[in-house]
Amino acid sequence: MPGYLSSEVDIEGRVRLVMESALTARDRVGVQDFVLLENYNSEAAFIENLRRRFRENLIYTYIGSVLVSVNPYKELEIYSKQQMERYRGVSFYEISPHIYALSDNTYRAMRTERKDQCILISGESGAGKTEASKKILLYYAVTCPTNDHMAILGDRLLQSNPVLEAFGNAKTLRNDNSSRFGKYMDVQFDFRGTPVGGHILNYLLEKSRVVHQNHGERNFHIFYQLLDGGDDDLLITLDLERNPQNYRYLVKGNCPRVSSISDKNNWKVVMKALPVIGFTEEEVQKLLNIIASVLHLGNTQFGEGEEGDTYITTETQTSNLAKLLGVDGSALREALTHKKLTAKGEEMISPLNYEQAVSARDALAKAVYGRTFTWLVEKINQSLALKEEIYHSSKDSSVIGLLDIYGFEVLQQNSFEQFCINYCNEKLQQLFIELTLRSEQEEYETEGIAWETVQYFDNKIICDLIEEKHKGIISILDEECLRPGETCDVSFLEKLEDTVGSHPHFITHKLANGKTRRVVSREEFRLLHYAGEVNYNVNGFLDKNNDLLNRNLKEVMCQSDNQILSHCFRREEVIDQKRPEMAATQFKNSLMKLMEILMSKEPSYVRCIKPNDAKQPGRFDEVLVRHQVKYLGLMENLRVRRAGFAYRRRFEAFLQRYKPLCPETWPNWHGRLVDGVSTLVNHLGYKAEEYKLGRSKIFIRFPKTLFTTEDALEAK
Ligand code: ADP
Ligand code: MG
Repeated sequence: MPGYLSSEVDIEGRVRLVMESALTARDRVGVQDFVLLENYNSEAAFIENLRRRFRENLIYTYIGSVLVSVNPYKELEIYSKQQMERYRGVSFYEISPHIYALSDNTYRAMRTERKDQCILISGESGAGKTEASKKILLYYAVTCPTNDHMAILGDRLLQSNPVLEAFGNAKTLRNDNSSRFGKYMDVQFDFRGTPVGGHILNYLLEKSRVVHQNHGERNFHIFYQLLDGGDDDLLITLDLERNPQNYRYLVKGNCPRVSSISDKNNWKVVMKALPVIGFTEEEVQKLLNIIASVLHLGNTQFGEGEEGDTYITTETQTSNLAKLLGVDGSALREALTHKKLTAKGEEMISPLNYEQAVSARDALAKAVYGRTFTWLVEKINQSLALKEEIYHSSKDSSVIGLLDIYGFEVLQQNSFEQFCINYCNEKLQQLFIELTLRSEQEEYETEGIAWETVQYFDNKIICDLIEEKHKGIISILDEECLRPGETCDVSFLEKLEDTVGSHPHFITHKLANGKTRRVVSREEFRLLHYAGEVNYNVNGFLDKNNDLLNRNLKEVMCQSDNQILSHCFRREEVIDQKRPEMAATQFKNSLMKLMEILMSKEPSYVRCIKPNDAKQPGRFDEVLVRHQVKYLGLMENLRVRRAGFAYRRRFEAFLQRYKPLCPETWPNWHGRLVDGVSTLVNHLGYKAEEYKLGRSKIFIRFPKTLFTTEDALEAK
């Protein structure tokens, strides 16, 4: 029976490997690194290992340098300042896996190699991504050298979080505090290793939530915070009533309160944080006007005239709405019920029908909220970039980037949003493969070991299917949006069948011919992602990609005397008749930029797993976990890591640990390290195919070899 490395830590904080019998250790806590699993191709063994560790509150496990984290749904005593101290300057394998170990290793790599780093955090909603990113930031805030000046930055970095969460997070079925946008954050350090600046890029805010929420879900937190926490005078100024049930944009999910959230307290936190991040009193006021105006917009109702025209039935409220938006009332009224067309150089006004008016109103609400969110991020960036000049010339500084972005999403019904999210994950997987293989290759090179080909699935073919110019799904979608005449979601689907129908990773109802196991409905196309199959319903694809706001609404908005809004709605946009980029293409371009940023950095990975849907501690739902292991591509991760050697260790560490096993190395070896290791493994009877000696490290191919050696050590 092979021994197992356990991740126990002794009183002095050193790791104590397999002091109890090997069998008990394995039974109890599993292996702390999946590369040490004997059967690394077995998903069952992988999940069993996770389960054992989870039961022991060991929520972290490595796959090489990838950290897998399982959400404990309870506060563990592992994040204290003392714990932070324990992980400082300690290398990965000496101590039990932890998010602090990864944070610290990343920081040290940045300092010693002077190379920018990034930490990529993925996982499905509720898996613990945002918590992980907060813990990393806190680790840096507490452990990095600082001075008074920089303490201000640390404060701003930490304070920007509740603000971003208030405006960008919402209660969903899967997470009471779900981030509804992707976030990439650079933390910049000077040559002393002191954090000196930060910068945030935001991706794809889920704007549709502003006007619609599914049952049991809420709109963005800030609306409820304002109604619950704002004092009476403020609400009067904003013409608001306290009860969220009075606002149509807040009642769709029938869920005004969430037991785990105090809107009132969070309101206080946000109002305190805004000035810290540099918001003036006036800016706060304008911001609140906008939040209130979205609620009033939602309550704007329409009636139908006799000739199919539309009028506003909530006249008085519209006046207040216009005041809050800082725009002219009658212009707003007209823009909400009419559209402006230019035909043969002449402007024409034509009335909207009821549905069109409703959708114009909702489009305005989404645009106002979405653009304000972008403004907010810009504003935070201004306050974080204390040293612009350093940020742009990276001579004396280095950066650690944190990516907290939605993982693969497979819902009952998948739409445009899931399509974008899953495309993003394909790109990240591609990056992972490229960077992992690259760093493996580099290590083999520096160690002088011959490269061995790694078998893996290259998902470039799927990325191409989605993003290729002229031929990819996004291009076809754009074309369909621009094509004059009657286009609709179904014609988009037909176009897809014509163009990419023969692609091996694309299937529709018609193409399937009953050949696939699961059903693809007539309104769906299925993509065979690297992580599994996902059906996408084409309903709404065109509208969401178009993301259109009537021109006359834009005209009204860019005249707003609310500075935030006049900043968000630019006059040029109205004058410039060129069609702005469509949503999917915008996303694609921003992803390309993100990939470039990440490519230039040394990556680390955190893969988060949600153990159950009930948000409860101690419950490990195997079906749910298996699903995530699959969609996070963890088995594929492990295969790439294990392709060459399971285990590698520096000569001195290896010798130090196993020297008692050989009379010639015990108690001390006096020659060259490599000779010592060589003598030791010869004595232990390692076969040539089991290991290789590099310049500074020994590479061991199978865990079994290592376990046998561990057993021998234990038997001594
Ligand atoms: P995600 O960003 O992946 O959607 P969050 O980071 O918001 O998920 O986590 C969801 C919830 O799970 C948190 O609000 C918190 O209650 C709990 N949680 C996540 N990570 C931890 C952790 N390490 N320790 C304790 N609770 C956690
Ligand atoms: Mg989150």
